[in-house]
Amino acid sequence: MTDDREPAAAAGAAETPPDAAPFAIGEGTRAVRAGLPAPVKNEPPLPGPVFAAHFHLPGDVEGPYTYGRDTNPTWTLLERAIGEIEAPGRDGVDTVVFASGMAAVSAVLLSQARTGDTVVLPDDGYQALPLLREQLEAYGIRVRTAPTGGDAQLGVLGGARLLWIETPSNPGLDVCDIRRLAEAAHAEGALVAVDNTLATPLGQRPLELGADFSVASGTKGLTGHGDLLLGYVVCRDPELAAGIRRWRKIIGAIPGPMEAWLAHRSLATLQLRARRQWANALAVAEALAGRGEVAGLRYPGLPGDPSHPTAARQMQGFGSVVSFTLPDRAHAERFLAALHLVEDATSFGGVRSTAERRGRWGGDPVPEGFIRFSAGAEDPEDLVADVLRALDSAGAGAA
Ligand SMILES: *Cc1c(COP(=O)(O)O)cnc(C)c1O
Repeated sequence: MTDDREPAAAAGAAETPPDAAPFAIGEGTRAVRAGLPAPVKNEPPLPGPVFAAHFHLPGDVEGPYTYGRDTNPTWTLLERAIGEIEAPGRDGVDTVVFASGMAAVSAVLLSQARTGDTVVLPDDGYQALPLLREQLEAYGIRVRTAPTGGDAQLGVLGGARLLWIETPSNPGLDVCDIRRLAEAAHAEGALVAVDNTLATPLGQRPLELGADFSVASGTKGLTGHGDLLLGYVVCRDPELAAGIRRWRKIIGAIPGPMEAWLAHRSLATLQLRARRQWANALAVAEALAGRGEVAGLRYPGLPGDPSHPTAARQMQGFGSVVSFTLPDRAHAERFLAALHLVEDATSFGGVRSTAERRGRWGGDPVPEGFIRFSAGAEDPEDLVADVLRALDSAGAGAA
């Protein structure tokens, strides 16, 4: 792994990465090493954040590092790390990091679609997608939507330029067959992007399933500590990546070096966090399944869930989010207030469990008692006990 040609820290970031281990490694091993530069004596294993608006640049304009809106060595290492985890062993894959998940989502949709094109979106996707839809339509781009479940987007692909998939969908947790949809979209000449936020790259690898772009909010499970916003786009092909990079340069939605470095640091524990959180989500879902006041319980990892057959085929893990509905708004609010180990907060994928009544935002078509629950990394028995205790207390409050 040592490579003397690889200088340290800032200057090293643009060098060719060291060869991967000369033997197969597992995803946990990959996660702890992802994106690290080759070891250099007296240099740190993960170089610290590089704070620079500009870089010394005498004479001709030559890369890799010139101006801080275009490139930064801390991004380079993080982009390499995310690419290794999203598409292990795949050549030609290129990753571009952004200031937030929405910056990454918008970069794909707004840089690829032109006036007169047709874009297919899910109608049950992330709550900011309808805003983006309005923007696309204002630019003369036609938008068609269909639900995620049942691969319903297949029915509206005719003549499309781009298919946007979100699976599992947030917050409904429906799942669609990425490979099937990607094949049908490619047959129409459309590009395919998958929002991989909920699954994380350890739970699902869209590029292997045929997508051209895997896009995600790194704010959620990828970084998992609820202390930063980040987004990324992983592209199957360098030409597509060049278009995404160009968009980032124009729009300037760049991550700060500190956020990029914190994100990279967090990747080392991605497998540890994800496995615990997925197991906790399943434990919570199983506990909820036995409760009479709980309706509409969804978790793709539950064998009886409508999403399970497809999820089991294309996912390696089912995510940390469980959704369910309590009888009414007041019941849901009593439940949230009675939890001790689960914070009432939005977002998901963090090491501390959170839950919220999703209807309070007004964006998602969900019942008033609908709860989106994000399982953290607590001890499973503590978390399940807290949920059951809060359900008891919320139920007693109604009597
Ligand atoms: C949160 C989220 C986004 C947006 O990410 P931000 O980092 O908040 O901008 C996009 N897609 C999904 C599925 C999300 O959950």
